[in-house]
Parts: sequence; structure tokens; C-alpha cells
Amino acid sequence: MNLRKIVIAIDGYSACGKSTTAKQVAKIMGYKYIDSGAMYRAVTYYFLEHYVSLTNPKDIENALDRIKITFHVNEDKETETFLNGLKIEKEIRKMRISDQVSQVSALKPVRIAMVNQQRKLGKDKGVVMDGRDIGTVVFPDAELKVFMTADMQVRAFRRQQELLDKDKMVDLLEVMENIHMRDQIDTTRAESPLRKADDAIEINTTHITIDEQVEEVVRQASSKIIQFMR
Ligand code: C5P
Repeated sequence: MNLRKIVIAIDGYSACGKSTTAKQVAKIMGYKYIDSGAMYRAVTYYFLEHYVSLTNPKDIENALDRIKITFHVNEDKETETFLNGLKIEKEIRKMRISDQVSQVSALKPVRIAMVNQQRKLGKDKGVVMDGRDIGTVVFPDAELKVFMTADMQVRAFRRQQELLDKDKMVDLLEVMENIHMRDQIDTTRAESPLRKADDAIEINTTHITIDEQVEEVVRQASSKIIQFMR
């Protein structure tokens, strides 16, 4: 049976478990996983490495012309981010990038360039994409839209554990401040601010496990696919 492929858009605040959920949902459904946040992080990495001024539009345009972001799946079946052919997966997860990424992602030319690429990556459907504006701007017609939330303490604690798992020691307060700062900038920026799409289902992950989050999204996705078969 040839089941119709859909687009699953997962948006929400920083560190709510979007990527972890999206990755597993993609695996179960045999879909492509696209981490749109990694793309903004890659741009930020390039801007920092090349001293691109965030207030100089010409500098920004020139830099964006030179940036090519790709994703490759490694032997462990994990998606890794590449910038101009160079693996930068580890670099872009560091706090120096987390501290700057929301300022970079708020810039209009940056958003235009990334949204174009994201639409190309999802044009054949069968994709799970997570971010801040996927259901509202990138794929407003996505068949399934999920908006994830969770309490601040839980988010900060989970993000700290994630960083510790990657041998990165960061104190909880620093993580909390970073999440708070990014939420603030991401929700109040002029260009496609983070907000729940009217037709998104909301999942609060404070008291549920990753498995439960994944199960809920897969259940919702299956019910959408069945709807389209009728
Ligand atoms: O998802 P992640 O936390 O890695 O995203 C990093 C940052 O990239 C966010 O804080 C936000 O500023 C930006 N972002 C965005 N739009 C997206 C995905 C991420 O503005 N679709």
C-alpha cells in the first residue's frame, strides 16, 4: 500500500524536547528529519568565524551567498550538520553559538535564505521539521502541526543533561538564562516570531516522557494519514 506522505511541523520554545521527539518520529515513520535550528546555528557559526557585522546589510548578504548548509546521516544513523562541506555539528551546539543565534535568526535576510532552503528540503513531503516558524511560515499547509511547551526548570535541567552527555559542563543558571533570553527574542522579533499556529495541537512535555511525546505525535500523524485515505 502506498501511503500518502505528510509534512509534520514541530514548533515550540527552546529545549522542550522538539528535536529529540522529531528525530524519533522521523525514524518510526521512515521520514526525513530536518533540524531547522541547526541551520540558524550554522549561519551564526559562519558569522562569528568571519566577523560578519549584524548591522551591515551588505556584509550579511555577501556572507549568506557563501553559505551552504547540508545534512548527512552518519553510521550511527544520526543527522550531522555541515557548513560548506565541513562538519560543524559539535561546534554549533556550544554555548557561544546559543548565546548569539537568536540575534542572527531575527535578521530578515537570514530568515529569507533559510526558509527557502527549508521549503526545498520538504517539497517532496515525508518530512519532520522542527523549529520556531515551521507551522506558521515555512509550511503553513503542513498536515500535522505540533506546538511543544514545558516548564522552564524542566527545560533547563533537560538541556543541561543533554550538554553533560556531550561532555559539556554548563551550570544550570547559565542554561536557564540562555533559554529565557532566546524565548524572549524569538517570541518578540518582527520577522516570523515564535507563536502557536491556530491549527496546531499543543503538547506540554513537563510531566511526560520522550516515549510518550513520540507516541502522541505518531498517533496524530497516523490519524491524519488515515483521514487522507478516505
Ligand atoms: O532549535 P534550536 O534551539 O537549535 O534553535 C536555535 C535558534 O534558532 C532558536 O533560538 C531561534 O532563534 C532560531 N530558530 C528560528 N527559527 C527556526 C528554528 C530556529 O528562528 N525555525
